[in-house]
Amino acid sequence: MYLNRMRDVTGTLAFRMTAWYAVVFTACSMLALSIFYYKISVITLKASDSELVEEIEEFVTIMDEGGLERVKKYMTVEVQSEEEDIFFRLFSPDGRLIAMEGKPFWNHVDPSENIFESLRHEVKPVLSTLELPDYKFKVRTIYGKISPEMILQVGISLEENEKYLKIFRRLLLLLILPLFLVSAVIGWLLARQGLKGVEEVTLTAMDITKGAYDKRVQVKKRLLEVSRLANTFNAMLDRIQALFKGMSEVTDNVAHDLRSPLTRIRGIAEMTLMGKSSIADYEKMAASTIEECDNLIHLINTMLDITETEAGVGRFEKEALDLKKLLTDACDLFQPVADEKGIQLLTRLPDELAVRSDKGRLQRMVTNLLENAIKYTDPGGKVTVSAYKKNGQVHIGFTDTGMGISETDLPKIFDRFYRCDNSRTQPGTGLGLCLVKAIANAFGGDIRVTSKLNEGSTFSVSLPL
Ligand code: ADP
Repeated sequence: MYLNRMRDVTGTLAFRMTAWYAVVFTACSMLALSIFYYKISVITLKASDSELVEEIEEFVTIMDEGGLERVKKYMTVEVQSEEEDIFFRLFSPDGRLIAMEGKPFWNHVDPSENIFESLRHEVKPVLSTLELPDYKFKVRTIYGKISPEMILQVGISLEENEKYLKIFRRLLLLLILPLFLVSAVIGWLLARQGLKGVEEVTLTAMDITKGAYDKRVQVKKRLLEVSRLANTFNAMLDRIQALFKGMSEVTDNVAHDLRSPLTRIRGIAEMTLMGKSSIADYEKMAASTIEECDNLIHLINTMLDITETEAGVGRFEKEALDLKKLLTDACDLFQPVADEKGIQLLTRLPDELAVRSDKGRLQRMVTNLLENAIKYTDPGGKVTVSAYKKNGQVHIGFTDTGMGISETDLPKIFDRFYRCDNSRTQPGTGLGLCLVKAIANAFGGDIRVTSKLNEGSTFSVSLPL
């Protein structure tokens, strides 16, 4: 259990960001401090070196002014007076020891043959760092000519330098942990701040899972990525909710629209069974049942067509079509119905109207709109079908002088199953316009309607060529 919780924590983005931040920050700080340490060690060594060079220069003057005896005397004075450990040795140019002053551990400093060799050709003093067996600090020595026949070696202890550097090294080691802890806290605060929006998205998603479907993420002024995530998440929720609402409406409507014909079928069958029915009655019942079933099949098929078209399922052919012929054929098909109702069916079409489109779907759209125009127009009225091309689009219009649509109904007529109250005397499912709109949209086009109650309506479809 404890292990699982540990794994949960270490698996979080906040933990990983904090850990990375702390490690990188500490490593960078230690690197910067190490460079600083190195620089300090170089500077302190340089200070010791210039002290040694100064000693040689001083002894050059003493040699010049007082000769060897003065040099020896001065060496003794310096060793006795210096607080630090210092030592002096005088050599002839071939490396023979002439005089020496200093504490016994300095005896371990071996004069190097190479140095005498190089000093024979060069005047520049030679510096080196040494470790002595009986002394715990490093020493720095210099060999320099104080006269053509005299080489002076001066050695000083690096005790002070090493003490300072040791303190610094300890400080570095002591700093690692506090640095790591401070950077971890800063990293954690930064990670928390950055991920606060993500956390809110998660909490909102959890609330929604529990049933709070209206919950949305509060989009505050945050980091751009986080507010974009919150906005996208909210937009997705809105879309899902709209789909959900649409689906439940469809289910309600389908249930309602199926119940009526099924109740009618059941009623007819019950009536026929209850009375003393003749063969003719049974035949009438069968005919009514077939008619109701046809209506149901039509309703279900139209529903499926709408769903398919809206989802973009199924192929949309792009074949060369004579739209003028398609519209004329449709009018010829509906002419008998129009004649029967005493409606004048007119066309206003150009001489030539070639388009590239899906014939089957275009026919479906045209028949639906033409059928509605005739259906919702009273005898003596007029229906006009027109078409023209403009700005890379083809516009098809269906104008009637029928019952018209009220302003309140106008925005809803393309919804599934929506039927205006004044048209309920006419047969219909309320799905035709929804399918027409789905087809127009699938073509990349649109459908608009203008209407005035009791005066008539115009449905205009515009499709890209
Ligand atoms: P329906 O099967 O009822 O005709 P539609 O989806 O084709 O279904 O139309 C939806 C509703 O829009 C109709 O019920 C009707 O009230 C109204 N409507 C459609 N076309 C017209 C029109 N040309 N004139 C008046 N009302 C119309």
